[in-house]
Amino acid sequence: MRFQSSKMNQIPPYMFAEFARKKARMIADGIDVIDLGIGDPDLPTPQHIVDKLIEESGNPKNLKYPSFLGHPEFRKAVSDFYQRQFNVDLDPDTEILALIGSKEGIAHIVPTIIDPGDYVLLPDPGYPPYRMAAYLAQGQVHGMPLLKENQFQPLFTEIPEDVKHAATLMFLNFPGNPTAAAVDLGFFKEAVAFASSHQIVIAHDAAYNMVTFQGYKAPSIMQAEGAKEVAVEFGSLSKTYSMTGFRIGYAVGNKEVIKALSVYKSNTDTGQFTPIQLAAAHALNSDQNCIKAQNEIYWERMRFMLEGLKAIDIHAEAPLGSFFIWAPTPERYTSSEFADAVLEQTGVIVTPGNAFGPSGEGYFRISLSLPNDVLYEAVNRIKNNIKISAK
Ligand SMILES: *Cc1c(COP(=O)(O)O)cnc(C)c1O
Repeated sequence: MRFQSSKMNQIPPYMFAEFARKKARMIADGIDVIDLGIGDPDLPTPQHIVDKLIEESGNPKNLKYPSFLGHPEFRKAVSDFYQRQFNVDLDPDTEILALIGSKEGIAHIVPTIIDPGDYVLLPDPGYPPYRMAAYLAQGQVHGMPLLKENQFQPLFTEIPEDVKHAATLMFLNFPGNPTAAAVDLGFFKEAVAFASSHQIVIAHDAAYNMVTFQGYKAPSIMQAEGAKEVAVEFGSLSKTYSMTGFRIGYAVGNKEVIKALSVYKSNTDTGQFTPIQLAAAHALNSDQNCIKAQNEIYWERMRFMLEGLKAIDIHAEAPLGSFFIWAPTPERYTSSEFADAVLEQTGVIVTPGNAFGPSGEGYFRISLSLPNDVLYEAVNRIKNNIKISAK
């Protein structure tokens, strides 16, 4: 008797599972483990959003099946946001689709676009669901290395000819997880030109487009001329408003892709709970100072953590976006060796870079989604206990 398909067997063992086991063992041994691997904001969802959710939940008509494309008020709010933030026009009826968190759309766009055997181009290192969705849809995967010498941006010219011709979908993600790299509009123009000339659909994951620092304003790929012909962009309320548990996001852009994705979705799910969509619309339509306040908190943590790392001779760049620090491991340590050493010597979990793809080797990721006092404690433990030179 078979309990899973052969493609399920292809899914590589989940890297984070081994870490979770180690963490559980240490906690059982009485060690106070600090997990800097968690990418889930500790900051509370702004109260006006929670209040709206409660209010809308009391309305019986909001408790019925939601519409397939998403609530019109939510789609209008996304359209207004794109107009305000990026000066981009989007038709709420044909160019915007509500998602049950952007991860849902990221997983579903792959079988929507590709046939088995097609190549999916994805960032290496990158958010693991891109790769997993490609495996599940029986696609082939080509990782585009994100290297420091290229500002952690992919070089389209390095993609082999045969891969380019067999590719039908490309994921991009800026500001990026795990590298925290950011791009300007010029990069998106280049990506759109490349995708147009090779007839590849671009799926840009913009989960961190509003989590930015140092005066940086993240562009939308939709601002690039011709983007609507080849690209969709995934947006999420999760990181912008600390709404991870709400599960609400959206896809915008190319009409054909939005339509195909909505057909796929209408056969697999029935949309997010209406009060959540209305609370999300309210978040987008209300005063945006909560984002500014949140980013100031992340930036303060960022600076503190970067200083702490410097004290042990680890020099990471101050990011323009995301709540991650992507730092080089000290020489003579692989990513896994370093993550193990930090965990064993300090009880602090950092994520080894190779968990995000082979080009992540030589790096580790720290997430700043923990309260200040916990971060301070983690920095002090690392500063006082990690002996880089004495391996
Ligand atoms: C957190 C995250 C997401 C998404 O989240 P949802 O909660 O599903 O909207 C998407 N992409 C990246 C790179 C992320 O880090």
